[in-house]
Amino acid sequence: MSENLKSWVANRIKEDEIVKYMDDDSDFIKDDEIWKHIKDDKQQDPVRIREIFEKALAVETLSPEETAMLINLKNPELVEEMKETALKIKLKVYDNRIVTFAPLYLGDYCVNNCAYCGFRTSNTIMKRKILSEDEIRRETEVLAGKIGHKRLIVVYGEHPLTGVDYIENSLRTIYGVKVPVRKGFGHIRRANVNAAPLQIDELKRLQEVGIGTFQVFQETYHHETHRKVHPEGTLKGDYKWRLYCMHRALEAGVDDVGIGALYGLYDWRFETMALLYHAIELEKKFGIGPHTVSFPRLEPAANTPFTQSSEYMVNDEDFERIILVLRLAIPYTGMILTARESREIRDKVLPLGITQTDASTRIGIGAYSDRYTEQELERQQFMIGDPRSLDELIRDLTKMGYITSFCTAGYRCGRTGKCIMDLLREGTEGKYCKLNAITTFKEWLLDFASEETAKIGDALIKKELDEVKTKMPKAYNKLNEYITRIENGERDLYF
Ligand code: SAM
Ligand code: SF4
Repeated sequence: MSENLKSWVANRIKEDEIVKYMDDDSDFIKDDEIWKHIKDDKQQDPVRIREIFEKALAVETLSPEETAMLINLKNPELVEEMKETALKIKLKVYDNRIVTFAPLYLGDYCVNNCAYCGFRTSNTIMKRKILSEDEIRRETEVLAGKIGHKRLIVVYGEHPLTGVDYIENSLRTIYGVKVPVRKGFGHIRRANVNAAPLQIDELKRLQEVGIGTFQVFQETYHHETHRKVHPEGTLKGDYKWRLYCMHRALEAGVDDVGIGALYGLYDWRFETMALLYHAIELEKKFGIGPHTVSFPRLEPAANTPFTQSSEYMVNDEDFERIILVLRLAIPYTGMILTARESREIRDKVLPLGITQTDASTRIGIGAYSDRYTEQELERQQFMIGDPRSLDELIRDLTKMGYITSFCTAGYRCGRTGKCIMDLLREGTEGKYCKLNAITTFKEWLLDFASEETAKIGDALIKKELDEVKTKMPKAYNKLNEYITRIENGERDLYF
């Protein structure tokens, strides 16, 4: 590592931006306590379990004890009821909507050496690249102009070349792209960010540019495993700097934060409990829980044997249980399922409470505008499992009765953070979202859909309109007016 790089690394972590949030000498993830809950396999009294279901249905965060009971639940009848409850929560809080997005990787330079990641600094076979402003524009033109995405998760490695100045400029570039399409124009309306933990002042700068969700995964919450997979002396090796980054984000005014664990590094039961601990801590300190929770499973990566040899790989059955438990334990949160998973798995677990998923996914640097279409291991962080295009995914979702929402109105009208959490808990946000889902879906069908998708999409919209007519008669006339205006070429009309 060069002297410049060493000095950059040495100045990243601000101890005072960790300790100010700590209640005592240790952080809020209590490994022994979590294991005690999991091992304390109480008699599974059906009455008690059903009380837990009711609590989750009332959109109340579950306690660690209750969550452990769901992790350990064995009675097949109650497991079936847990699935039904998950579905009911999803419908109550988020209705039949699915939000779609695309990941956009801007660079693969990284100072860290995470054992599981293709971008790690010691992985010399990687073809490293950072996109220039022009290249970012070209990628965005494809995403917003050809595919029709409105939301991105923009992904960065941890490196001075992709530090906060770069992040800020790249977001401005992305938001600046407007591409004429069939009737309206393609434009990214919400750029979420997945980056390394940042300092409070840096987060304030991103808030000013207008980021959506700030997403950082703890990867593993288990202290010893965290040390093992993130070598000492690396930035990522500092467990607490990462753990408290959402505290810093919330303090900086970025009030939509996304947490996650990379499943496969340690026991899935522990990680699921720890995600709940994280949500409870944020609720306690800021009155806001995570806007989203992610639960990626470890995927193969170039020249990365760890991804094939971990003893904690999660099988499909346990993966399903993770989703169910999270859906009940943190009922208000958005849940993200990515194209890391195969089409079969995605179709199977989607109804268990997923709210967001990606499509047309390319994770090679520059891969959207590049000529090549195949996955190329040396250019990407890991392999993806579901290459479906956005049009295909939307067609499949429509057949399953889901309306694909491109709505980003909530965050642009200030319905974020605590405000949106309260609305979600009351089931009020759902009303706006339903209407905005219909209008944005209509826009997308007109601007981007294939003939086949447009046909079944329009049939679903008709059904949704009938539902609005009976359930929200007051909003119906305005919605109808919006639909006509959208058909005539107007865009971005929202409730
Ligand atoms: N450098 C930032 C960081 O680590 O926080 C940016 C994120 S990284 C490019 C995005 C996420 O990909 C990581 O947080 C990790 O959970 C996930 N990831 C890394 N290697 C992976 C693998 N082999 N399979 C699946 N997901 C992986
Ligand atoms: Fe870098 Fe993130 Fe990969 Fe770790 S997971 S090597 S921090 S890009």
